[in-house]
Amino acid sequence: MKPNLADITAAAGAIRGVADNTPMIPSPAFSAIAGHEVLLKLENMQPIGAFKLRGAMNAVSKLSDDCAGVICCSTGNHGRGVAFAAARRGLRAVVCMSDMVPKAKVEGIRALGAEIHICGQSQDDAQAEVLRLCAAEGLHEIPPFDDRHVIAGQATIGAEMMAARPDLSQIIVPLSGGGLAAGVALAAKSAKPTLRIIGVSMDRGAAMHSALLAGQPVDIKEVPSLADSLGGGIGTDNRLSFQMCRDLLDDVILVTEEEIYRAMQAIYFQERLVAEGGSAVGIAALLSGKLGEISGPIATIITGRNLDMSVFTRIVNGQSVTLGDYTVKGHTYEK
Ligand SMILES: *Cc1c(COP(=O)(O)O)cnc(C)c1O
Repeated sequence: MKPNLADITAAAGAIRGVADNTPMIPSPAFSAIAGHEVLLKLENMQPIGAFKLRGAMNAVSKLSDDCAGVICCSTGNHGRGVAFAAARRGLRAVVCMSDMVPKAKVEGIRALGAEIHICGQSQDDAQAEVLRLCAAEGLHEIPPFDDRHVIAGQATIGAEMMAARPDLSQIIVPLSGGGLAAGVALAAKSAKPTLRIIGVSMDRGAAMHSALLAGQPVDIKEVPSLADSLGGGIGTDNRLSFQMCRDLLDDVILVTEEEIYRAMQAIYFQERLVAEGGSAVGIAALLSGKLGEISGPIATIITGRNLDMSVFTRIVNGQSVTLGDYTVKGHTYEK
């Protein structure tokens, strides 16, 4: 069942005090480029360094104390959110990830006390292990995006943004499985139906974009990307996030690895913020001119800061970054 407005209000209560209202700050530098006010919703400031704590907290709050524990597959941040939320409830947490997930993310989850299973080369491989362990050990699955309580949790971001700035005219949302975009769009469009919601993904392995074009979920090939947290499919049996994105998103834009690289530099040098690749795609869309004709004020969500520091320092220093068989050429940042 799809989440509704009552679910979003209840989620705001369930996560209060843990995943709280993050700041939304104006960016003078990006506003000058856009010709309209640009605001950054700083979900990289959440306790686990990413917004996924919201959906995970809300889903875990629905479980009973005698539950055997929780399990999820993850590209990194969802696992961290689930591990954090489970630890607060004293519940066992198991996180299944492919070997595409960066080391920094894996270690962050391990540090929260979760059991880690590295399985295969894709989210689909990790999901197969989740199903196996659910059946074998009676664990409760918390899906990364295709779940009513997870979407309602992520939706609280949209509710907070509209409460802070009812005059927003566009929200640019990093898009992978679509739990975030679906939730934010539901909350924000309920507050202001004329608001435009634009999803942004990387152009290599953009699962939701391919699904929207095909009119149904499709298999995509997962490849390494600076936006590692946007990798993975949407599930061929997708129940909620595909339909919600189809019905609520006004557009989906794809950005290149080079555009993500430059956006990460710009966010760091202009705003002194650490934004992981997946969280920089909104600014990448703006800087590349791909947003097309824009009206303001515009907000984008800086969704996380969990990146490998060795990669980040290379980007800050203008050095090239190698992702599997693809190399993003170095580029020195100039104001
Ligand atoms: C998960 C994630 C997203 C995308 O969220 P979906 O609900 O899968 O679309 C964006 N940014 C970061 C940092 C994430 O971890």
